[in-house]
Amino acid sequence: MKVIIVGGGIAGLTLAYWLNKNGNEVQVIEKASELRTEGYMLDFFGPGYDVAEKMGILDSLQRIHYPISGLEFRSEDGKFKYELPYPSLRHLFNGRHFNFLRGDLEQVLYGLVKDRVDFKFGLTINDVQQDDNQVHMKFSDGSRGTADLVVGADGVRSRVRSLVFGDHHNYIKHMGYYTAAYIIENSCMSKPLNNAFYSLSSPELQASVYPIRGDRSATFFLYKSSQKEEHLFREEAINELNHHFKHMGWVVPELLDQAEEASDFYFDEVSQVVMPQWSKGRVVLVGDSCQAVSLMAGQGASLAMTGAYVLSRSLQESNDVKQALEKYENDLKPQVMKTQASGRKFAHYFLPDTRWRIIIRDVTMRISVLPVVRRFVNMNRARIPK
Ligand SMILES: Cc1cc2nc3c(=O)[nH]c(=O)nc-3n(C[C@H](O)[C@H](O)[C@H](O)COP(=O)(O)OP(=O)(O)OC[C@H]3O[C@@H](n4cnc5c(N)ncnc54)[C@H](O)[C@@H]3O)c2cc1C
Repeated sequence: MKVIIVGGGIAGLTLAYWLNKNGNEVQVIEKASELRTEGYMLDFFGPGYDVAEKMGILDSLQRIHYPISGLEFRSEDGKFKYELPYPSLRHLFNGRHFNFLRGDLEQVLYGLVKDRVDFKFGLTINDVQQDDNQVHMKFSDGSRGTADLVVGADGVRSRVRSLVFGDHHNYIKHMGYYTAAYIIENSCMSKPLNNAFYSLSSPELQASVYPIRGDRSATFFLYKSSQKEEHLFREEAINELNHHFKHMGWVVPELLDQAEEASDFYFDEVSQVVMPQWSKGRVVLVGDSCQAVSLMAGQGASLAMTGAYVLSRSLQESNDVKQALEKYENDLKPQVMKTQASGRKFAHYFLPDTRWRIIIRDVTMRISVLPVVRRFVNMNRARIPK
C-alpha cells in the first residue's frame, strides 16, 4: 500500500516507522525546511513509552533524557518552597519515565526512518480529492501525488483536516490558557541554576526554567487569559509575557529580557482537538490533528506515538482500509477522551487560579510521591489499547 503522511512530527515519524516496517511504501510531506530543533521539554511516560520499547529505542531515549535532580517549587518572588526529588517522581511511573526535548525525540525517530522513507521537506498540500480506491493530492510546489491512504499528522492546526473535514474552528477547543517556551543560548543568570526544573507560581501564572546541555536554559510560561490571542507575532507575544509576568522576581526578569534573542520561540493558546470522526474515506488523522489532549493533560507526545502504532497495527490486521480506520478510532478514542476530560478537570490544579488553590496544589504534589499514592497513579496509567 502507498501511504502519504502529511507532517513529520512525533506522530508522523512514528507512523512512518511502523508502516515501513510492515512493508508499505511511505512518503512524508513536511512543511518545515528541515526537522525542527529542540522546542520544549516533554514529560514522557504512559503508552508512548511502551510503543518506544516496541521500537527498540529506549537506549536512545535514555541518551537524550535530562536527569534533573528534581522539581523545585518557588513563590512568585523566587523564594524556595519545596523540592520533589526526581527519583521519587520517576518511581510514580515504575521508572518508565523520561524528560527530553521534543526536537531530540524527533531526531531519534527520524534516525530510524530517514534512509527507508521518502521525505519531502519544505512542502505542503493544497488540495485533496478521493475516489473509492485512491487519494489524489496537489502539493504547494505544483506537483501532484496519488496514494492508497493519506494521513494528516500535521498537528493542532492540521491542513489535511481543514481540507477534508472543514474549518478548524469546529474542532479546536481553546482552554483559556496561553503558553510560551524558548531557549536561551549561553545563559548566564545572576542566580546560579543547579540541575533542577524550577517553577514559580502565582495565581493564574507559572514561569519555569531549567538548564539544558551546552550552557543553555529552557523556559516555559503558562498563563490564564480570557482574551483571544490566536495569531500573535513574536514581538506581540513577548509583550504579552512581559505584561503578565513582570511582577515576578528571582530570574524571571532576566528570562523575559532575553526572549527577543532566544531560539526556538514558541507561543500558542492551549487547546484540545475534539472530532466526531477521525477518518473520511481514505484520509485519516493521527496525533494532535485529531486527538490533542493539551499540556494540561500531559501525554500528548505519548498518545501521538500510541495513535501511530495503533493505526499501523489496524492497517496490518485488516485488508479493508475502511474497517481498519474504524477499528483504530474505536480502539484509541475512549482513552483519548478520558485523558482530555482529565485535562479539562485538572487544569485549575495544573495552574491554580487563587492563592488557596496554590496551597492545595502544593500539598497534593508533596504527598503524590508517597507509596500509597504511587499505587493509585499506576492503576490509572493509560495503556496501549489491546
Ligand atoms: C509547551 C508544550 C508542552 C508540552 N508538554 C508535553 C509533555 O510534557 N508531555 C507530552 O507527552 N506532550 C506534551 N506536549 C504535547 C506534545 O508536544 C504534542 O502532543 C505532540 O508534539 C503531538 O505530535 P504531532 O506529531 O501529532 O504534532 P506536532 O508536534 O504538531 O507535529 C506536526 C508536524 O506537522 C508539520 N506540519 C504542520 N502543518 C503542516 C502542513 N500543512 N504540511 C506539512 N507539514 C505540516 C509540522 O511542521 C510538524 O512537524 C506539550 C505541548 C506543548 C505546546
